[in-house]
Amino acid sequence: MKFLVCIKQVPDTNEVKIDQKTGTLIRDGVPSIINPDDKNAIEAAVTLKETYGGTVTALCMGPFQADAALREALAMGCDDAVLLSDRAFAGSDTMATSNILTAAIKTLADFDIIFCGRQAIDGDTAQVGPQIAEKLDVPQITYVGDIKISGKTVTAKRMLEDGYQVIETTMPCLLTAVKELNTPRYARIGGIFDAYNAEIRVMTVNDINVDLSAIGLKGSPTNVSRSFTPEPKGAGVMLEGTDAEKVSALISGLSAKHII
Ligand SMILES: Cc1cc2nc3c(=O)[nH]c(=O)nc-3n(C[C@H](O)[C@H](O)[C@H](O)COP(=O)(O)OP(=O)(O)OC[C@H]3O[C@@H](n4cnc5c(N)ncnc54)[C@H](O)[C@@H]3O)c2cc1C
Repeated sequence: MKFLVCIKQVPDTNEVKIDQKTGTLIRDGVPSIINPDDKNAIEAAVTLKETYGGTVTALCMGPFQADAALREALAMGCDDAVLLSDRAFAGSDTMATSNILTAAIKTLADFDIIFCGRQAIDGDTAQVGPQIAEKLDVPQITYVGDIKISGKTVTAKRMLEDGYQVIETTMPCLLTAVKELNTPRYARIGGIFDAYNAEIRVMTVNDINVDLSAIGLKGSPTNVSRSFTPEPKGAGVMLEGTDAEKVSALISGLSAKHII
């Protein structure tokens, strides 16, 4: 079976700061990590490969420093890694990003399962995975917390806020992973050594069949009008007294604000 995992290198969010003048993320000097949901996706793909056989390819669009994320994916058990990097990709929003990733996937191989994370912790849109599935015209199951495979049938548990759905589809398909799916493994020392000796394939705009007007800033219909750090919320109110007094105070407070 052929598995592909889309991974994004993201700034470690505890460290993220916004440039108040330009409204953009300050990335210089900020440590980068593999997007957490993408690590669950890697773990799922590598586990399936170990159970059913096959290969796992890790694919990342980003600057050359994203090489480190791909080497970590190799050390976790991916078999090969592809970095999509070109100045023509800069400024891409989710639409343009998914155009680029889709074109690369079509160039690389016919994959049985394509994995994405549910969402990236920096952009936070959760749009890229579903957009790739639409553009590849394959079925998708998002928010996947469990996977079972039988032949070409994939049965996935879809984690929702108030319950879960069990959905069945057939390969080829795209799944987006959530943290409930598994616990990502640590890279083995030997795996890290091999990963740093491995060759990362770099693909540029010349290696994929993509409409140049659909990528980069000019291919991005999204306009960010303002970015800002939200004001911290005010301190909460602690209710004192017996349970009955606290309930009564809560009801009067909510009534006074016309909430109930
Ligand atoms: C106008 C505009 C300009 C932008 N310019 C830039 C820029 O120059 N450089 C830049 O880094 N960002 C840029 N961004 C941000 C960029 O568009 C998003 O980060 C990107 O499209 C992914 O969206 P997301 O972070 O919401 O991912 P989500 O949709 O939340 O990600 C879901 C999943 O999709 C996959 N995925 C997402 N992005 C990638 C990727 N790059 N490679 C592989 N897999 C991926 C991962 O599996 C991820 O878990 C720009 C955004 C806008 C609106």
